[in-house]
Amino acid sequence: MSVLEMNRELSLDEVVEKHPEVPRLIAVKIDVQRRGVHYTDGALSRLDKELHQIRGATLFGSRDAKLTPLPESLILRDGTTVLTDPTPVEQNPYVVDFIDGKLVITDQGTIIEEAEYWPKPDFYGKKTVSGKPMEFVVTARPQRLQLMPSSYCHFWKNDHGCKYCDIVNHAKHQKSELGIPAKLKPAEASEVIKEALKQPGRFSSICLTAGSDTRGVEPFDEEVEYYVELLQVIGENFKTKKFPSQLIATAFNEKQLEKLYRETGLMGYTADIEVLNEHLFNWICPGKAEWIGYQEWKKRLIRAVDIFGPGNINTGIVAGVELAKPHGFSSESDALEATMEEAEDLATKGVSTIFMVWIPRPQSCFHDQKNASLEYYVSLAKGLHGLRKKYSLNIDFDDYRRCGNHPDGDLTRIL
Ligand code: SF4
Repeated sequence: MSVLEMNRELSLDEVVEKHPEVPRLIAVKIDVQRRGVHYTDGALSRLDKELHQIRGATLFGSRDAKLTPLPESLILRDGTTVLTDPTPVEQNPYVVDFIDGKLVITDQGTIIEEAEYWPKPDFYGKKTVSGKPMEFVVTARPQRLQLMPSSYCHFWKNDHGCKYCDIVNHAKHQKSELGIPAKLKPAEASEVIKEALKQPGRFSSICLTAGSDTRGVEPFDEEVEYYVELLQVIGENFKTKKFPSQLIATAFNEKQLEKLYRETGLMGYTADIEVLNEHLFNWICPGKAEWIGYQEWKKRLIRAVDIFGPGNINTGIVAGVELAKPHGFSSESDALEATMEEAEDLATKGVSTIFMVWIPRPQSCFHDQKNASLEYYVSLAKGLHGLRKKYSLNIDFDDYRRCGNHPDGDLTRIL
């Protein structure tokens, strides 16, 4: 019987020993994402706002539900990017400390790994013509510019938002404390992108990600119209019609997808299905189920491959929510098997699946739940990466260079 079947959690070292093909640094990344981090005063004394990236606007809240201007996140010795949240100490996060002249990740006083803060992009700290800090309009991932056009999701209008999601509560918090508006003005977004692109060699793509907007003659027409307007204005910064870009949005119908492709420079498209099981999708993502449905979501992803071309379409899952109580899988091995089966079905049709580690956020319905074991995430990373190899799918537009969030994407450069 495997450990996954016994539901006993292995430690970091045990997981690394059991899965030698997965580099230790990737396992560290996953575990740091899974448990979050706490920064000691010593660690924060090393934070230099002229050199390091401080958290800008975010679509979702952090595990401490605060907006403290802490480091954006960490980077490991091999360049692996870790996206993780400040987390209350009582939740047993990893502790980032400064010991013997080095910034380190520690666990119960033991040094696990060296780390560094993300380097500050040149445009951070500058202001738009209307006086807004530019990092409140556009933020930076390792090599991509990140826009959050709308921090309101209309699925919450009748409380049918996804159960792990805190977007609306977080948007209100950001607006009241930092003055960050829930909706971006296209001209302002373009202004910041123009400034950001002046930095040589840092950015290789642009990503837009926002809440769903059900309004329009056909549902989601208004969401599509807004992206078209934004992408056209942003596109004025480029000499070619198409520019390296990704839109993470609702699963649009064929007409909407064709409009996006035809009228803008968009190259990559992601519609997050969130959980690869119809029954759990209906429970966890009731808004997506109400307006589109699980089978139709899959069909739209597959249709998008025909429009945008192979290698330009993927879907994200919030890995671990399939184990949420009380309706989720009760065993990790069953959850893994079911998820991989559905991911393979999509892979055979040209759609790649990537995952992010589920963070039970304090302002979400699932605030008191627990995410999965480290071994679960390591196994999922291997499995999803394996599917990409088997079906010759690439995710260059959403990989470790551009996004930096998905542990399965990190394996692309290693295995
Ligand atoms: S679709 Fe779901 S996860 Fe995305 S913003 Fe809306 S409620 Fe949140």
